[in-house]
Amino acid sequence: MPQHGDTARVDVEALRDLLDGRWAAVRRRARDILRGPEFTPRYGLSVAEHRARVTEQLHALARTDLARYGFDPRYGGRGEVGASVAAFEMLVCDLSLMVKMGVQWGLFGGAIQALGTEYHHATYLPGVMSLEIPGCFAMTETGHGSDVQRLRTTATFDPNTDEFVVHTPDEAARKDYIGNAARDGRLAVVFAQLITGGQRHGVHALLVPIRDADGTVLPGIRIEDCGPKAGLNGVDNGRIWFTQVRVPRTALLNRYGDVAADGTYSSPIENPNRRFFTMLGTLVRGRISVAGGAGMAAKTALAIAIRYGQVRRQFLRPGSDSEVALLDYLAYQRRLLPALARTYALHFAQEEMVSRLHDGFTDGPLDERAQRELEAHAAGLKAVATWHAVDTIQTCREACGGAGYLAENRLPQLRADTDVFTTFEGDNTVLLQLVGKSLLTNYRQEFGNLDPLGMAKFAAGQFLGTVIERTAARSLLDRLVQAAPGRGDEDDLRNREWQRALLADRENHVLEGLARRLRAAPADADPFDVVNNVQDHVLLAARAHVDRLVFEAFASGVARIEDEGTRAVVERLCDLAALSLVEQERAWFLEHGRLTPARAKAVTATVNALCQELRPHARDLVDAFGLNDEWLAAPIALGAETARQDQQARARVPVGAET
Ligand SMILES: Cc1cc2nc3c(=O)[nH]c(=O)nc-3n(C[C@H](O)[C@H](O)[C@H](O)COP(=O)(O)OP(=O)(O)OC[C@H]3O[C@@H](n4cnc5c(N)ncnc54)[C@H](O)[C@@H]3O)c2cc1C
Repeated sequence: MPQHGDTARVDVEALRDLLDGRWAAVRRRARDILRGPEFTPRYGLSVAEHRARVTEQLHALARTDLARYGFDPRYGGRGEVGASVAAFEMLVCDLSLMVKMGVQWGLFGGAIQALGTEYHHATYLPGVMSLEIPGCFAMTETGHGSDVQRLRTTATFDPNTDEFVVHTPDEAARKDYIGNAARDGRLAVVFAQLITGGQRHGVHALLVPIRDADGTVLPGIRIEDCGPKAGLNGVDNGRIWFTQVRVPRTALLNRYGDVAADGTYSSPIENPNRRFFTMLGTLVRGRISVAGGAGMAAKTALAIAIRYGQVRRQFLRPGSDSEVALLDYLAYQRRLLPALARTYALHFAQEEMVSRLHDGFTDGPLDERAQRELEAHAAGLKAVATWHAVDTIQTCREACGGAGYLAENRLPQLRADTDVFTTFEGDNTVLLQLVGKSLLTNYRQEFGNLDPLGMAKFAAGQFLGTVIERTAARSLLDRLVQAAPGRGDEDDLRNREWQRALLADRENHVLEGLARRLRAAPADADPFDVVNNVQDHVLLAARAHVDRLVFEAFASGVARIEDEGTRAVVERLCDLAALSLVEQERAWFLEHGRLTPARAKAVTATVNALCQELRPHARDLVDAFGLNDEWLAAPIALGAETARQDQQARARVPVGAET
């Protein structure tokens, strides 16, 4: 409970404006557009009805500027990449619509823009934006999902006809899970091994028509519906096979690799590995969007559960005839409020990430190192944000009891829809490995064709070199970390610098340990074993890194809050984000002597205290997310429970005498 004289209180509108951030106008616009029965969440639709509804909604969006933000102004776009991500996030009224939009204007349109050249932009982008050309992003194959470098679809150049022949050589090479394929897609960006003059040049993307204007599947193309899924059933995912399908040479999205009429291959990037990763890197927006979409789903679930927990009552308060509101129970607060704190932290991290993405696009290309760093951060944030959303939505579902299980209250659908966010746009475990590897070195281009062991040792060497350079900074950190334990004062657990130092120290320590282990491997060791034996360590390093980044983003977000009362509340939320993480990871901190047992117990006590201090502000903190009531849609979040209790009170039925 707030202490006497406590000035902490939330100015909801001011906080909403702050959270709306750099693309506040886009978020406000989305709140206006996504209104009325057309966009109200619906449940109980058949797969066919749901798909039809989402397609209609997408056509409605195509008539607004939400469709145009991410595209080049020369072709009718707005050139606002950051705005396109913000618009995507706002489609929380139905995550199928969010994903379908992401496929059309993010993945499909985004790939044409990023990998194509002027001819492709002028020819296709206007139709992509208007939805005259519904499309697919056909990368994944049945045999290869995470390891896309080994896709098996081929695109073989035939100089006699000036065409590519796109072919599915075997069942492993069929395109699988492809959004927009089963029903609506007419054109697909197809990723295939490019072959010319008998030589392979690695994975490239080509535009391949799959249906005609009437929606009839074209000759040489076979499409199969993936059928009902656990969630996202408004999206028509399908499988595609190509049998010697011929497309003109101009179908190749040729920004990073081209084939001349005589079949000669050329590319501005000589090293095939670098070329491949550069091409993939240009598609980073998809991952960032998914992280933001997951964040909005978590916010929606929290808004429903906290509104409900505030009014729902269970069990009499001893010595009184009134029942206790769920949100007054410490155990209840502990389930929802640390999740709320982390949701805020991830929000600020997402905002920073989108800004960096946007500036990278707007102010000219980032240098290679900055681009790699952006990709690694995006991968890490996508992984932690989507896992957080899945966990949080489940927690919220349980926190609403039986009512949380009813479709009308949205939580089951949110849970089912976000589940796969952990898998698509890069499986989370695989993404965290990318983060871990990139932390060891920022010099990936120097790897050339080193084998995995050579690469690991090179990376470890680079990393240890930079550790030595950082010794001065380290000793400061050490002093900070070691100064705190044992003093037992709750105030210094709430010290932002101490929290920062603790998380940074964990990140450094885990990384240094990893680098040493890699470095210590004997020269004749099996390269696979060396890397595989430290896989858990790589994942931990990535987690520790992302945890620190997310915390830093939250801390700098808090510092931007001008209203004193609001800042006082959000400061506590930031403390809760930091300390609930420390509590969750306390085994590591204890094992490594970073916390004494007494200090670890003090962390738990402070988490409890923070939960109770934040309880009166919980409703304001979710209201500041700015979610339209009609998106929440859940009767339990919109007064049904209060109305029931009022009715009971009016009938003067004593508590406990209803049956
Ligand atoms: C609903 C839905 C929509 C999709 N939409 C599209 C789309 O529009 N376009 C498109 O191209 N693709 C799409 N996908 C495909 C999606 O991107 C892939 O499913 C994803 O990349 C994972 O690939 P996979 O399914 O082959 O899993 P796998 O790569 O086989 O992974 C399976 C498991 O193995 C683990 N694993 C893999 N490699 C390692 C490793 N090195 N170390 C440790 N563990 C490992 C992973 O963590 C995972 O848990 C979609 C998928 C779904 C389900």
